Amino acid sequence: MVELSAFSRRKFLLTASASAAASIVLKGCVGNPPDTTTATQASPVVEAGSGVQAGSEPEVTTAKLGYIPILEAAPLIVAKEKGFFAKYGMPDVQVDKQANWGAARDNVKIGSGGGGIDGGQWQMPMPYLITEGIITDDAKVPMYILAQLNTHGNGIAIAGEHKGKNIGLKLQGKESFFAQLKSAGTRFKAANTFPRVNQDFWIRYWVAAGGIDPDQDVEMLTVPAAQTFADMKIGAMDAFSTGDPWPYRIVAENVGFMAALTAEIWKNHPEEYLAMRQDWVDKNPNATKALLKGVMEAQQWCDDFSNRQELAAILAKREYIGVAEAILRDPLMGKYNMGEGRTVDDRSMAPLYWKDERGSVSYPYKSHDLWFLTESVRWGFLPKNTLDNAQTWIDRVNREDLWKEAAQEMGIASADIPTSTSRGIETFFDGIKFDPENPQAYLNSLKIKKA
Ligand code: CA
Repeated sequence: MVELSAFSRRKFLLTASASAAASIVLKGCVGNPPDTTTATQASPVVEAGSGVQAGSEPEVTTAKLGYIPILEAAPLIVAKEKGFFAKYGMPDVQVDKQANWGAARDNVKIGSGGGGIDGGQWQMPMPYLITEGIITDDAKVPMYILAQLNTHGNGIAIAGEHKGKNIGLKLQGKESFFAQLKSAGTRFKAANTFPRVNQDFWIRYWVAAGGIDPDQDVEMLTVPAAQTFADMKIGAMDAFSTGDPWPYRIVAENVGFMAALTAEIWKNHPEEYLAMRQDWVDKNPNATKALLKGVMEAQQWCDDFSNRQELAAILAKREYIGVAEAILRDPLMGKYNMGEGRTVDDRSMAPLYWKDERGSVSYPYKSHDLWFLTESVRWGFLPKNTLDNAQTWIDRVNREDLWKEAAQEMGIASADIPTSTSRGIETFFDGIKFDPENPQAYLNSLKIKKA
């Protein structure tokens, strides 16, 4: 273990003051109105290295984390921008924007040593698929899931040409709409941002709950998150599912409307995760916990709604999401104009990072990993016998134990540290229940499935 020298402590402090100064300048640039309280207050300076406990100094001060320009990435970006990684002794963490999910996968496969990344933001069950070489040309790259980044903040956008056809959360009675498109040779096209993970699952769950078979009645395609808006504008798709701000921007710029928020499909659902290469974590156990502490403190900061205007300003910057701040502000406050006259105004439906109505958002429940694997079986993405050994696989990939250690070390109240690795029974908008004790019963209860 390396003692932090007076020199490196001083370096941390200098880095922190430099970034604090930079964020004050940027606040001026983004044009926050001077009469609001948040705009006139300087960002609180977090003292670099102040969260490092003697004996648990990180082995390294850097890690390369990939992210996709959607609201899910907020905890990683905020941990960097607000100095939370530096606070826990990781001042040199890089957050690197990935062109798309395929690029993130390729970059984690080569690792930072090969010019790629050590880990970062993932849809599920990507860390499982990468661990087993299923989406990496058989090259097994073992990964660990460390935390959940967020819940909510995703939606299903529909092209403007379908306005007035009553396409909403519930599709019952819409069979003929899909059938007509199919018989005309123009099957309903729905885009995800990477096949066989979250966004694909949300579209599939939504249509199947309405009696529409996603493999028969819908044509699924894959489009990078930041490209979805432009592609829908030129008529390349009827629907897409992705993280905010892209579905909301469809409404804000009058290109279409939103059929549903994922928060409506499954309230407090698991969304995206922080996962790292296993070799990086095993080599750097203290640095892993330092990353986790930085992310957790960022998640708490993000969930303070008085910080959300500043959060919008940070995320709007060109190097991050790169959209007008106004497009980010409303979804972050739980305010959604869905188009077609429907609005949602409910903070419990907003993207949440630290806590939701079910408890911890940040803690990576193993029962949620099991749902993602079960849903993969449902659609034939993973073989049926996956469920026989799912628990072993989950125990190998999900490191909720490290989350708990990090939480305890940073003094998180014990009431905020889950005692079970299962969140218990989950309920979807159509009344279907997932009991992690019996995933087969869930599969049996679903009418449309491949398995
Ligand atoms: Ca997402």
